[in-house]
Amino acid sequence: MSDLRDLYQEVILDHSRGPLNFRVPETSTNHAEGYNPLCGDRFTVYVTVEGGVIRDAAFQGTGCAISRASASMMTEAVKGRTRAEAETLFQGFHDLVTGQGGAPDASGPLGKLAVFAGVGEFPARVKCATLAWHTLRAALESRPEAISTE
Ligand code: ZN
Repeated sequence: MSDLRDLYQEVILDHSRGPLNFRVPETSTNHAEGYNPLCGDRFTVYVTVEGGVIRDAAFQGTGCAISRASASMMTEAVKGRTRAEAETLFQGFHDLVTGQGGAPDASGPLGKLAVFAGVGEFPARVKCATLAWHTLRAALESRPEAISTE
């Protein structure tokens, strides 16, 4: 667990400084806006879904280090997955950051996302970590109106 904690700090810093998929794609099939009023994080998530598979995922917006790192890792994690697989990942991630997922394991189904177990120690940051995921779900359900974590 202490290894994961070090990794958590490192991964959050890396991804918040240089987030992956931080762009507005030229084309996308779905997008949604998400807002976390507790922290001020505000993102738009763009996805391209073809044949039920998420071919591309990207995001734009402003937010704290945790929300940016989470959005960055989420967009990487869901590419190539079906909607159902993305939803399963979200459930696992949600359980992890709310401390319901049992012992975090980087070799488990969440892979590198397991480092977000560190968020469990800071309940106020759970909404930062899950904002991008809630927004992804709204995009996949084609709910273009802005969603809020409140
Ligand atoms: Zn935040």
